[in-house]
Amino acid sequence: MIETKSCAGCGVTLQTENQRLPGFIPNSAIDKEQVICQRCFRIKHYNEVAQVSMDDDDFVQILNGIASTDSLVVKVVDIFDFNGSWLSGLHRFVGNNPILLVGNKLDLLPQAINPNRLVNWMRYEAKQLGLKPVDVMLCSAKQGRGLDQLVEAIVRYRRQEDIYIVGATNVGKSTLINTLLRHYGENELELTTSRFPGTTLDMIEIPIDERHSLFDTPGIINKDQIVHMVDPEDLKLISPETRINPKVFQLNDQQTLFLGGMARVDFVSGKRQPFVVYVSNRMHIHRTKLEKADELFETHAGSKILSPPHGENHKKLPPLQRRTFRIRPGEKKDIVISGLGWITVGEVGASVDVHAPRGVSVILRNALI
Ligand code: GDP
Repeated sequence: MIETKSCAGCGVTLQTENQRLPGFIPNSAIDKEQVICQRCFRIKHYNEVAQVSMDDDDFVQILNGIASTDSLVVKVVDIFDFNGSWLSGLHRFVGNNPILLVGNKLDLLPQAINPNRLVNWMRYEAKQLGLKPVDVMLCSAKQGRGLDQLVEAIVRYRRQEDIYIVGATNVGKSTLINTLLRHYGENELELTTSRFPGTTLDMIEIPIDERHSLFDTPGIINKDQIVHMVDPEDLKLISPETRINPKVFQLNDQQTLFLGGMARVDFVSGKRQPFVVYVSNRMHIHRTKLEKADELFETHAGSKILSPPHGENHKKLPPLQRRTFRIRPGEKKDIVISGLGWITVGEVGASVDVHAPRGVSVILRNALI
């Protein structure tokens, strides 16, 4: 039998045949110890992802095995892209195992946010989406925030069993595990991380004591995540890298805000009021009259004032779809556009139409600030 070898970075089975498939490694490197696939090599050394093909069914099949284990499932979501990074039907492949829900990328949110409100919102949304986690936690894997509490919770809920970390691509799962390893483990092996989705390809096992392991599962591609709709260059401008600075626009009704060329917020009716926009600091926001908005988009999408996406890239986006929201007087709401950010409106009542790419979730929640 031919011995199979796994990549020490992402866990995928190595092969020397096809450069376009996962796990490729040149013949000359296969006999080395602790070898990583060409994909991981490029990410580690050049910070760039080589595209390989892998279909969703493979991911689901790998995750299916969790149901027959006794384990704690740690489900990681991006709190900036909560609905976009949600894995629906998780109960199908985790069986009766307890689920700990972790909201990552806390460092992106303005300091004024009350973490308890955020946790309560996550718990509420999780319930609406059919999941009852044993606990909900927040952290920043990048900055190492909230990790002591997270480790404490993992120890408490895992009841001496294995731990599976699951999540959609790009939620920061690999970063979280790397940070956990740096802080709490002696393991020198680091997983591959990168800005672009689809980095972690196969299950990777990290022993945590003599009998148990922590498993990093593959990221599931959720096609409704904005990260899968745009080019890497545009993604850099759309996804915040640093804490978001809110921008306040005093709007009259019949005015529109364009969030680059990604989405459009129409203030249809209501008294003059502030629209507070929480998106990436590098996202260009353009204000115009509602009556001019359609034509402006037709003629200027992709130009400097209505980008990202740049140039012809906007044609690759799913078409913008309108969603209508009515906010009653006395209510203060966040209109959340998954993956882009949110806009806080209300108190005096407003009727707002949001145009966002088809598939991208747009929801209303009680204002976090
Ligand atoms: P995975 O696909 O879930 O394994 O995600 P990665 O760990 O590769 O991270 C995806 C992107 O999110 C990378 O650009 C990371 O730098 C970024 N990221 C991960 N964790 C955090 C975090 O806590 N805060 C911020 N701001 N970015 C993060």
